[in-house]
Amino acid sequence: MNDTTQMSIYIHIPFCMKKCNYCDFLSGVYDEDTQVKYVDAICKEIEYMGQRLEGVAVPSIFIGGGTPSWLDGVHIERIMSAVYDNFNVPGSAEITIECNPGTVTGEKFLAIRRAGINRISIGLQSADDEELKLLGRVHDFNQFLRTYEMARKTGFTNINVDIMTGLPGQTKEKLLNTLENVIRLKPAHISAYSLIIEEGTPFYNLYKEDVHRRECGEPTVFLPNEDAEYDLTKMTEQVLSQHGYHQYEISNFARDGFECEHNKVYWQRGQYIGFGIGAASLIGDCRYHNMTDIYEYIEKCNKLPVASNQTIEARLSGEAEEIMYLWDSSQTLSRHDQMEEFMFLGLRMNQGVRREDFKEAFGCEIEGVYREQLEKLQQEGLLVMEGGHIYLTERGRDISNVVLSEFLFD
Ligand code: SF4
Repeated sequence: MNDTTQMSIYIHIPFCMKKCNYCDFLSGVYDEDTQVKYVDAICKEIEYMGQRLEGVAVPSIFIGGGTPSWLDGVHIERIMSAVYDNFNVPGSAEITIECNPGTVTGEKFLAIRRAGINRISIGLQSADDEELKLLGRVHDFNQFLRTYEMARKTGFTNINVDIMTGLPGQTKEKLLNTLENVIRLKPAHISAYSLIIEEGTPFYNLYKEDVHRRECGEPTVFLPNEDAEYDLTKMTEQVLSQHGYHQYEISNFARDGFECEHNKVYWQRGQYIGFGIGAASLIGDCRYHNMTDIYEYIEKCNKLPVASNQTIEARLSGEAEEIMYLWDSSQTLSRHDQMEEFMFLGLRMNQGVRREDFKEAFGCEIEGVYREQLEKLQQEGLLVMEGGHIYLTERGRDISNVVLSEFLFD
Protein backbone atom coordinates (compact mmCIF):
# COMPACT_ATOMS: atom_id res chain seq x y z
CA MET A 1 0.00 0.00 0.00
CA ASN A 2 1.20 3.52 -0.75
CA ASP A 3 1.65 6.17 1.91
CA THR A 4 -1.75 6.79 3.46
CA THR A 5 -0.68 9.43 5.94
CA GLN A 6 -1.14 12.13 3.27
CA MET A 7 -4.23 12.35 1.15
CA SER A 8 -5.48 15.15 -1.10
CA ILE A 9 -9.17 15.93 -1.38
CA TYR A 10 -11.33 16.57 -4.44
CA ILE A 11 -14.87 17.88 -3.98
CA HIS A 12 -17.25 17.71 -6.94
CA ILE A 13 -19.94 20.37 -7.32
CA PRO A 14 -22.03 19.37 -10.35
CA PHE A 15 -24.09 22.55 -10.71
CA CYS A 16 -23.94 24.89 -13.70
CA MET A 17 -26.02 27.87 -14.78
CA LYS A 18 -26.40 26.25 -18.17
CA LYS A 19 -24.75 23.39 -20.02
CA CYS A 20 -21.98 24.44 -22.46
CA ASN A 21 -22.13 23.06 -26.00
CA TYR A 22 -18.97 20.96 -25.75
CA CYS A 23 -19.29 19.69 -22.18
CA ASP A 24 -19.69 16.05 -21.19
CA PHE A 25 -18.65 16.53 -17.55
CA LEU A 26 -20.90 15.26 -14.81
CA SER A 27 -22.73 18.56 -14.40
CA GLY A 28 -26.07 20.15 -15.08
CA VAL A 29 -28.73 22.62 -14.06
CA TYR A 30 -30.39 21.83 -10.69
CA ASP A 31 -32.88 23.74 -8.54
CA GLU A 32 -31.94 25.44 -5.27
CA ASP A 33 -33.51 22.72 -3.13
CA THR A 34 -31.35 20.00 -4.75
CA GLN A 35 -28.26 22.16 -4.29
CA VAL A 36 -28.93 22.53 -0.56
CA LYS A 37 -29.58 18.81 -0.15
CA TYR A 38 -26.44 17.98 -2.10
CA VAL A 39 -24.32 20.24 0.12
CA ASP A 40 -25.82 18.53 3.20
CA ALA A 41 -24.99 15.16 1.65
CA ILE A 42 -21.41 16.10 0.79
CA CYS A 43 -20.84 17.40 4.33
CA LYS A 44 -22.07 14.04 5.64
CA GLU A 45 -19.76 12.14 3.30
CA ILE A 46 -16.83 14.30 4.41
CA GLU A 47 -17.65 13.70 8.07
CA TYR A 48 -18.11 9.99 7.48
CA MET A 49 -14.78 9.54 5.74
CA GLY A 50 -12.97 11.93 8.06
CA GLN A 51 -13.85 9.69 10.99
CA ARG A 52 -12.41 6.73 9.15
CA LEU A 53 -9.26 8.44 7.95
CA GLU A 54 -8.40 10.06 11.23
CA GLY A 55 -4.85 11.39 11.33
CA VAL A 56 -4.47 11.70 7.56
CA ALA A 57 -2.96 15.07 6.56
CA VAL A 58 -4.36 16.90 3.54
CA PRO A 59 -1.74 18.70 1.42
CA SER A 60 -4.22 20.01 -1.17
CA ILE A 61 -7.93 20.41 -1.78
CA PHE A 62 -9.63 21.09 -5.12
CA ILE A 63 -13.29 22.10 -5.40
CA GLY A 64 -14.17 21.45 -9.03
CA GLY A 65 -17.21 20.93 -11.17
CA GLY A 66 -19.48 21.88 -12.69
CA THR A 67 -19.33 25.41 -11.43
CA PRO A 68 -18.57 25.44 -7.69
CA SER A 69 -18.84 29.25 -7.68
CA TRP A 70 -22.52 28.88 -8.64
CA LEU A 71 -23.11 27.76 -5.04
CA ASP A 72 -24.07 30.32 -2.47
CA GLY A 73 -21.07 31.52 -0.40
CA VAL A 74 -22.69 30.10 2.76
CA HIS A 75 -22.63 26.61 1.23
CA ILE A 76 -18.99 26.92 0.19
CA GLU A 77 -18.15 27.89 3.78
CA ARG A 78 -20.18 24.95 5.12
CA ILE A 79 -18.33 22.47 2.92
CA MET A 80 -14.95 23.81 3.95
CA SER A 81 -15.95 23.79 7.63
CA ALA A 82 -16.83 20.11 7.27
CA VAL A 83 -13.36 19.47 5.84
CA TYR A 84 -11.58 21.40 8.62
CA ASP A 85 -13.68 19.71 11.31
CA ASN A 86 -12.90 16.22 10.06
CA PHE A 87 -9.45 16.33 8.46
CA ASN A 88 -6.03 17.61 9.39
CA VAL A 89 -5.48 20.47 6.92
CA PRO A 90 -2.13 22.21 7.51
CA GLY A 91 -1.82 25.95 6.95
CA SER A 92 0.41 25.27 3.94
CA ALA A 93 -2.31 23.34 2.06
CA GLU A 94 -3.14 24.55 -1.45
CA ILE A 95 -6.94 24.99 -1.63
CA THR A 96 -8.46 25.74 -5.04
CA ILE A 97 -11.97 26.51 -6.17
CA GLU A 98 -13.12 26.72 -9.79
CA CYS A 99 -15.01 29.94 -10.53
CA ASN A 100 -16.79 30.84 -13.72
CA PRO A 101 -17.29 34.46 -14.74
CA GLY A 102 -20.86 35.54 -14.30
CA THR A 103 -21.37 33.40 -11.19
CA VAL A 104 -19.29 35.28 -8.62
CA THR A 105 -19.78 38.53 -6.76
CA GLY A 106 -17.38 40.44 -4.50
CA GLU A 107 -19.33 39.11 -1.53
CA LYS A 108 -18.92 35.52 -2.71
CA PHE A 109 -15.17 35.99 -3.12
CA LEU A 110 -15.08 37.23 0.49
CA ALA A 111 -16.90 34.06 1.60
CA ILE A 112 -14.43 31.97 -0.44
CA ARG A 113 -11.57 33.71 1.31
CA ARG A 114 -13.17 33.29 4.73
CA ALA A 115 -13.44 29.59 3.93
CA GLY A 116 -9.63 29.43 3.77
CA ILE A 117 -9.48 28.90 0.00
CA ASN A 118 -6.23 30.34 -1.37
CA ARG A 119 -6.28 29.56 -5.10
CA ILE A 120 -8.84 30.54 -7.73
CA SER A 121 -9.21 28.85 -11.11
CA ILE A 122 -11.25 30.90 -13.58
CA GLY A 123 -12.74 29.32 -16.71
CA LEU A 124 -12.26 31.95 -19.39
CA GLN A 125 -11.74 29.66 -22.44
CA SER A 126 -11.49 32.55 -24.93
CA ALA A 127 -11.20 36.35 -25.01
CA ASP A 128 -13.29 36.41 -28.19
CA ASP A 129 -17.00 36.94 -27.48
CA GLU A 130 -18.01 35.16 -30.68
CA GLU A 131 -16.03 32.07 -29.64
CA LEU A 132 -17.56 32.21 -26.16
CA LYS A 133 -21.03 32.31 -27.71
CA LEU A 134 -20.20 29.37 -29.94
CA LEU A 135 -18.97 27.38 -26.92
CA GLY A 136 -22.24 28.17 -25.14
CA ARG A 137 -20.51 29.87 -22.22
CA VAL A 138 -22.65 32.15 -20.04
CA HIS A 139 -20.11 34.97 -19.90
CA ASP A 140 -18.43 37.46 -22.20
CA PHE A 141 -14.85 38.69 -21.96
CA ASN A 142 -15.76 41.82 -19.96
CA GLN A 143 -17.45 39.70 -17.34
CA PHE A 144 -14.29 37.64 -17.06
CA LEU A 145 -12.25 40.82 -16.55
CA ARG A 146 -14.57 41.95 -13.77
CA THR A 147 -14.36 38.51 -12.12
CA TYR A 148 -10.57 38.53 -12.33
CA GLU A 149 -10.36 42.03 -10.84
CA MET A 150 -12.73 41.08 -8.01
CA ALA A 151 -10.58 38.07 -7.17
CA ARG A 152 -7.46 40.23 -7.07
CA LYS A 153 -9.14 42.92 -4.97
CA THR A 154 -10.29 40.28 -2.49
CA GLY A 155 -6.62 39.41 -2.02
CA PHE A 156 -6.16 36.32 -4.20
CA THR A 157 -2.72 36.21 -5.78
CA ASN A 158 -2.66 32.56 -6.87
CA ILE A 159 -5.04 32.60 -9.84
CA ASN A 160 -5.28 30.20 -12.77
CA VAL A 161 -7.00 31.04 -16.05
CA ASP A 162 -8.27 28.24 -18.31
CA ILE A 163 -8.20 28.76 -22.06
CA MET A 164 -9.02 26.45 -24.97
CA THR A 165 -7.29 25.78 -28.26
CA GLY A 166 -8.47 24.05 -31.42
CA LEU A 167 -11.89 25.75 -31.41
CA PRO A 168 -14.03 25.75 -34.56
CA GLY A 169 -12.82 28.56 -36.80
CA GLN A 170 -10.01 29.50 -34.40
CA THR A 171 -7.18 31.24 -36.21
CA LYS A 172 -3.69 32.00 -34.90
CA GLU A 173 -4.69 35.66 -34.61
CA LYS A 174 -7.73 34.87 -32.50
CA LEU A 175 -5.78 32.60 -30.18
CA LEU A 176 -2.95 35.12 -29.92
CA ASN A 177 -5.50 37.74 -28.95
CA THR A 178 -6.75 35.48 -26.13
CA LEU A 179 -3.22 34.70 -24.96
CA GLU A 180 -2.18 38.36 -24.96
CA ASN A 181 -5.29 39.44 -23.09
CA VAL A 182 -4.68 36.83 -20.41
CA ILE A 183 -0.92 37.40 -20.12
CA ARG A 184 -1.55 41.13 -19.64
CA LEU A 185 -3.30 40.27 -16.35
CA LYS A 186 -0.24 38.32 -15.11
CA PRO A 187 -2.09 35.33 -13.57
CA ALA A 188 0.09 32.87 -11.68
CA HIS A 189 -0.96 29.93 -13.82
CA ILE A 190 -2.52 29.28 -17.24
CA SER A 191 -4.06 25.98 -18.39
CA ALA A 192 -4.49 25.57 -22.15
CA TYR A 193 -6.61 22.58 -23.12
CA SER A 194 -7.39 21.41 -26.65
CA LEU A 195 -11.06 21.10 -27.45
CA ILE A 196 -12.14 17.48 -27.56
CA ILE A 197 -15.40 16.70 -29.32
CA GLU A 198 -17.24 14.34 -26.97
CA GLU A 199 -20.10 12.10 -27.94
CA GLY A 200 -23.49 13.17 -26.64
CA THR A 201 -22.73 16.91 -26.73
CA PRO A 202 -24.26 19.43 -29.19
CA PHE A 203 -20.74 19.88 -30.60
CA TYR A 204 -20.62 16.19 -31.44
CA ASN A 205 -23.61 16.47 -33.75
CA LEU A 206 -22.20 19.59 -35.35
CA TYR A 207 -18.61 18.51 -35.80
CA LYS A 208 -18.36 14.72 -35.76
CA GLU A 209 -17.80 14.58 -39.50
CA ASP A 210 -14.98 17.08 -39.19
CA VAL A 211 -13.38 14.94 -36.48
CA HIS A 212 -13.59 11.99 -38.85
CA ARG A 213 -12.10 14.05 -41.69
CA ARG A 214 -9.25 15.15 -39.41
CA GLU A 215 -8.54 11.57 -38.38
CA CYS A 216 -8.38 10.57 -42.05
CA GLY A 217 -6.10 13.49 -42.90
CA GLU A 218 -8.77 15.13 -45.10
CA PRO A 219 -9.42 18.90 -45.09
CA THR A 220 -11.78 19.96 -42.30
CA VAL A 221 -14.66 22.43 -42.65
CA PHE A 222 -15.05 23.98 -39.16
CA LEU A 223 -12.34 22.60 -36.90
CA PRO A 224 -8.66 23.35 -37.44
CA ASN A 225 -7.03 20.49 -39.36
CA GLU A 226 -4.26 18.47 -37.73
CA ASP A 227 -1.45 20.78 -38.88
CA ALA A 228 -3.32 23.93 -37.89
CA GLU A 229 -4.09 22.41 -34.48
CA TYR A 230 -0.42 21.58 -34.02
CA ASP A 231 0.52 25.18 -34.95
CA LEU A 232 -1.95 26.56 -32.41
CA THR A 233 -0.49 24.37 -29.68
CA LYS A 234 3.08 25.30 -30.54
CA MET A 235 2.24 29.00 -30.68
CA THR A 236 0.61 28.73 -27.23
CA GLU A 237 3.74 27.11 -25.79
CA GLN A 238 6.06 29.68 -27.36
CA VAL A 239 4.07 32.76 -26.39
CA LEU A 240 3.59 31.58 -22.82
CA SER A 241 7.25 30.68 -22.46
CA GLN A 242 8.31 34.11 -23.82
CA HIS A 243 6.23 35.71 -21.08
CA GLY A 244 7.66 33.74 -18.15
CA TYR A 245 5.23 30.83 -17.99
CA HIS A 246 7.13 27.57 -17.92
CA GLN A 247 5.35 24.51 -19.20
CA TYR A 248 5.41 21.85 -16.49
CA GLU A 249 2.80 19.53 -17.96
CA ILE A 250 1.35 18.98 -21.42
CA SER A 251 -1.47 21.52 -20.89
CA ASN A 252 -0.25 23.51 -17.88
CA PHE A 253 1.97 26.57 -17.56
CA ALA A 254 3.02 28.49 -14.46
CA ARG A 255 5.09 31.36 -13.24
CA ASP A 256 7.89 30.16 -10.95
CA GLY A 257 6.55 28.82 -7.67
CA PHE A 258 2.94 28.51 -8.85
CA GLU A 259 2.61 25.00 -10.29
CA CYS A 260 -0.65 23.39 -9.21
CA GLU A 261 0.20 21.09 -6.31
CA HIS A 262 -3.13 19.32 -6.47
CA ASN A 263 -2.74 18.26 -10.09
CA LYS A 264 0.78 17.08 -9.35
CA VAL A 265 -0.69 14.69 -6.79
CA TYR A 266 -2.66 13.03 -9.63
CA TRP A 267 0.30 12.88 -12.00
CA GLN A 268 2.60 11.51 -9.31
CA ARG A 269 0.06 8.94 -8.19
CA GLY A 270 -0.33 10.41 -4.75
CA GLN A 271 -3.27 9.33 -2.63
CA TYR A 272 -6.53 11.26 -2.90
CA ILE A 273 -10.11 10.98 -1.90
CA GLY A 274 -13.03 12.39 -3.89
CA PHE A 275 -16.32 13.61 -2.42
CA GLY A 276 -19.56 14.10 -4.31
CA ILE A 277 -21.07 12.38 -7.31
CA GLY A 278 -18.72 10.72 -9.77
CA ALA A 279 -15.67 11.67 -7.69
CA ALA A 280 -12.69 9.33 -7.94
CA SER A 281 -10.43 8.22 -5.09
CA LEU A 282 -7.08 6.48 -5.07
CA ILE A 283 -6.65 4.81 -1.70
CA GLY A 284 -3.89 2.29 -1.28
CA ASP A 285 -3.88 0.18 -4.43
CA CYS A 286 -7.56 0.73 -5.18
CA ARG A 287 -9.33 3.22 -7.36
CA TYR A 288 -12.94 3.99 -6.51
CA HIS A 289 -15.66 6.04 -8.16
CA ASN A 290 -18.66 7.45 -6.35
CA MET A 291 -22.11 6.88 -7.78
CA THR A 292 -23.17 9.37 -10.44
CA ASP A 293 -26.89 9.75 -9.72
CA ILE A 294 -27.33 12.84 -7.56
CA TYR A 295 -30.64 11.80 -6.00
CA GLU A 296 -29.36 8.34 -5.10
CA TYR A 297 -26.20 9.93 -3.68
CA ILE A 298 -28.22 12.31 -1.49
CA GLU A 299 -30.39 9.45 -0.26
CA LYS A 300 -27.42 7.22 0.53
CA CYS A 301 -25.51 9.96 2.34
CA ASN A 302 -28.54 10.49 4.55
CA LYS A 303 -28.33 6.85 5.59
CA LEU A 304 -24.57 6.55 6.03
CA PRO A 305 -23.76 4.04 8.74
CA VAL A 306 -22.26 5.15 12.03
CA ALA A 307 -18.45 5.23 12.19
CA SER A 308 -16.79 2.10 13.47
CA ASN A 309 -13.57 1.78 15.42
CA GLN A 310 -11.58 -0.10 12.82
CA THR A 311 -7.93 0.70 12.25
CA ILE A 312 -6.93 2.78 9.24
CA GLU A 313 -5.37 -0.29 7.58
CA ALA A 314 -8.55 -2.30 7.97
CA ARG A 315 -10.64 0.60 6.74
CA LEU A 316 -8.52 1.06 3.65
CA SER A 317 -7.91 -2.56 2.80
CA GLY A 318 -11.52 -3.06 1.84
CA GLU A 319 -12.42 -5.01 4.98
CA ALA A 320 -14.52 -2.08 6.07
CA GLU A 321 -17.42 -2.75 3.79
CA GLU A 322 -19.41 0.28 4.74
CA ILE A 323 -16.78 2.51 3.12
CA MET A 324 -17.94 1.13 -0.18
CA TYR A 325 -21.48 2.25 0.49
CA LEU A 326 -21.24 5.24 -1.87
CA TRP A 327 -18.92 3.71 -4.41
CA ASP A 328 -20.24 2.75 -7.75
CA SER A 329 -17.13 0.98 -8.90
CA SER A 330 -13.86 -0.06 -7.41
CA GLN A 331 -10.83 -1.55 -9.03
CA THR A 332 -7.84 -3.07 -7.33
CA LEU A 333 -4.91 -2.04 -9.47
CA SER A 334 -2.53 -4.81 -10.39
CA ARG A 335 1.22 -4.21 -10.25
CA HIS A 336 1.21 -3.76 -14.03
CA ASP A 337 -1.71 -1.30 -13.84
CA GLN A 338 0.23 0.74 -11.33
CA MET A 339 3.41 0.73 -13.40
CA GLU A 340 1.47 1.84 -16.48
CA GLU A 341 -0.13 4.65 -14.52
CA PHE A 342 3.23 5.66 -13.06
CA MET A 343 4.64 6.12 -16.57
CA PHE A 344 1.50 7.44 -18.23
CA LEU A 345 0.80 10.11 -15.66
CA GLY A 346 4.39 10.93 -14.67
CA LEU A 347 5.61 11.47 -18.23
CA ARG A 348 2.89 14.06 -18.80
CA MET A 349 5.03 16.35 -16.65
CA ASN A 350 8.06 18.03 -18.22
CA GLN A 351 10.24 16.85 -15.34
CA GLY A 352 9.10 13.30 -16.11
CA VAL A 353 9.54 10.46 -13.65
CA ARG A 354 12.36 9.65 -11.24
CA ARG A 355 14.11 6.30 -11.31
CA GLU A 356 14.27 6.39 -7.51
CA ASP A 357 10.51 6.84 -7.24
CA PHE A 358 9.92 3.86 -9.50
CA LYS A 359 12.26 1.74 -7.39
CA GLU A 360 10.62 2.89 -4.20
CA ALA A 361 7.14 2.17 -5.53
CA PHE A 362 7.84 -1.21 -7.15
CA GLY A 363 11.05 -2.48 -5.55
CA CYS A 364 12.90 -2.88 -8.87
CA GLU A 365 14.85 -0.83 -11.39
CA ILE A 366 12.82 0.82 -14.14
CA GLU A 367 15.08 -0.76 -16.80
CA GLY A 368 14.20 -4.15 -15.41
CA VAL A 369 10.65 -3.54 -16.60
CA TYR A 370 10.85 -1.05 -19.47
CA ARG A 371 14.41 -1.37 -20.88
CA GLU A 372 13.30 -2.07 -24.45
CA GLN A 373 10.81 0.81 -24.59
CA LEU A 374 13.21 3.29 -22.98
CA GLU A 375 16.03 2.45 -25.39
CA LYS A 376 13.78 2.60 -28.44
CA LEU A 377 12.22 5.94 -27.48
CA GLN A 378 15.64 7.38 -26.65
CA GLN A 379 17.01 6.34 -30.04
CA GLU A 380 14.02 7.94 -31.72
CA GLY A 381 14.71 11.21 -29.90
CA LEU A 382 11.39 11.09 -28.07
CA LEU A 383 12.66 10.58 -24.54
CA VAL A 384 15.69 11.53 -22.44
CA MET A 385 17.23 9.71 -19.47
CA GLU A 386 19.38 12.05 -17.47
CA GLY A 387 20.42 12.57 -13.85
CA GLY A 388 17.96 10.12 -12.39
CA HIS A 389 15.08 11.62 -14.39
CA ILE A 390 13.29 10.24 -17.44
CA TYR A 391 11.30 12.74 -19.46
CA LEU A 392 9.85 13.35 -22.92
CA THR A 393 11.58 15.60 -25.43
CA GLU A 394 9.56 18.33 -27.14
CA ARG A 395 8.97 15.95 -30.05
CA GLY A 396 7.94 13.25 -27.59
CA ARG A 397 5.39 15.60 -26.04
CA ASP A 398 4.03 16.48 -29.50
CA ILE A 399 3.05 12.86 -30.00
CA SER A 400 2.64 11.98 -26.35
CA ASN A 401 -0.32 9.66 -26.94
CA VAL A 402 1.79 7.44 -29.17
CA VAL A 403 4.82 7.59 -26.88
CA LEU A 404 2.88 6.87 -23.70
CA SER A 405 1.12 3.90 -25.24
CA GLU A 406 4.55 2.21 -25.45
CA PHE A 407 4.38 1.69 -21.69
CA LEU A 408 1.21 -0.37 -21.77
CA PHE A 409 1.48 -4.08 -21.06
CA ASP A 410 -0.45 -6.28 -23.44
S1 SF4 B 1 -19.36 25.52 -16.99
FE1 SF4 B 1 -17.88 23.83 -17.16
S2 SF4 B 1 -18.86 22.07 -16.24
FE2 SF4 B 1 -20.46 23.60 -16.59
S3 SF4 B 1 -21.33 23.04 -18.54
FE3 SF4 B 1 -19.75 24.56 -18.97
S4 SF4 B 1 -17.87 23.36 -19.35
FE4 SF4 B 1 -19.38 22.00 -18.38
